[in-house]
Amino acid sequence: MGLTQVGIEAGRAGACPAPVICERFDDLGADGRPVRLGIMGGTFDPIHIGHLACAEQAREAFGLDAVVFIPAGKPAFKLKRDVTPAEQRFEMCRLAVRGNPAFDVSRIEIDRPGVTYTADTLRQLREHYPGNVSLFFITGADAVCSILKWRESAAIASMAELIAATRPGYALSEETRLTIEQSGNFRIHMLETTGLAVSSSDLRARVRSGRSIRYLTMQQVLDYIAGHGLYGWKQDRKAVREVSEVGPDQDNRSELGEVDVLGDAFYQARREQLKHRVKHKRFEHSLGVSETAARMARVYGQDERLARLAGLLHDWDKAYDDEGIRARAVELGVAEQLASYMDMPHLLHGPTAAAALAREFPELPSSLLQAIRLHTTGAVGMSPLDLIVYVADVIEPTRDCPGVDQLRDLVGKVELEELFLETLAYVIGNLIERRKLIHSDTVTVWNHYVARAQERGASNDVKGSK
Ligand code: ATP
Ligand code: MG
Repeated sequence: MGLTQVGIEAGRAGACPAPVICERFDDLGADGRPVRLGIMGGTFDPIHIGHLACAEQAREAFGLDAVVFIPAGKPAFKLKRDVTPAEQRFEMCRLAVRGNPAFDVSRIEIDRPGVTYTADTLRQLREHYPGNVSLFFITGADAVCSILKWRESAAIASMAELIAATRPGYALSEETRLTIEQSGNFRIHMLETTGLAVSSSDLRARVRSGRSIRYLTMQQVLDYIAGHGLYGWKQDRKAVREVSEVGPDQDNRSELGEVDVLGDAFYQARREQLKHRVKHKRFEHSLGVSETAARMARVYGQDERLARLAGLLHDWDKAYDDEGIRARAVELGVAEQLASYMDMPHLLHGPTAAAALAREFPELPSSLLQAIRLHTTGAVGMSPLDLIVYVADVIEPTRDCPGVDQLRDLVGKVELEELFLETLAYVIGNLIERRKLIHSDTVTVWNHYVARAQERGASNDVKGSK
């Protein structure tokens, strides 16, 4: 927060509605502009680098705005084989794609009862998205060869264009392509991808026989496989070494595939990430807020590790300019609930950071996300953690504004809420002095906490007069 950034989100809407297609791209095409959406269907048992590279290269080659991975519920072609439970395949996809902002994963096939047919999926997508969203169904050459045999192949052809990726071991001759195009009315684009002779079958076989799958899929996926003992993974096998060790360069997962978001490894990894996201001074400020918040948590009996992480991450979205942060709010789907802040875009980075972090790291506790969300605005009914992050933002050591020292001196000497009220008074005073606008909701926060202080004062008086 800068000292200019006070406001409050009045009447903040409750939980966001559940996404229909996927979290990141439900609103694609809403502004009427043409959008190209890639669909990567498959069993993903498990997802591997062949899938990811194929999707990424299709995105690049065909200018796709997004690619959605859609793990099959009950794949029509794999009914005979025991397929890993859909939730686990979904989770592995989610872990694999989360680092790429152009990717997301959809539950539509796993939530649809019965055998999965691509035609039903495309129909659902067509119904959801407006006409300016074009669908590109990405498949490996192996799948294209059999597409004429798929249920309702004519319907598939009418709803999406195909991107056929070359895949080692599966040839797709020009002749076959023409036959498919002509007899099925398909529009097929060929995509020369890096030939990765990787398959899920091979990964499963490797795990079963105790061989390494490291580098054949994302480390998070490997950790998940190991953590859940999928494909016959034995914990005592030699390859258990493949599982990431918790350390600053790793992705902070325990051997069970769970992320300890309050642990040192996660903290260090986010610290590194933040360093590249914001300018040096902002980074130093964030470290200051982190340390100060941790110290205040100790003093006021709150969870130190939660506070230090919230402090570190509070300015996660600070590098955007006004236009950028508005666009970010739209992309994250939080613009509507933040409508009153669109004219004061410097208030948006708290809420957008919370939404973005929740999307990227679903394991983060909601109490931490709330503290980040409210740090630009404050709110009625803040939790101790919210108060700590708000105050730490103002008093951390790299801030050298006159008057901050008096606030620093109050830490531990007055109640947390009183410290917050003093800090708010300081911030509002600053805004007034500099002839800055004050968001009307700020007045509500101010009145709320002043009234509470008066109540406390009154009850103290009563106690004192006894
Ligand atoms: P399995 O071995 O179990 O059949 P798979 O590796 O073929 O698994 P699927 O989930 O069947 O993976 O594939 C999903 C989609 O990804 C298909 O369109 C498939 O052609 C494509 N695909 C899979 N592996 C590759 C790869 N290495 N390169 C390019 N495309 C791939
Ligand atoms: Mg396959």
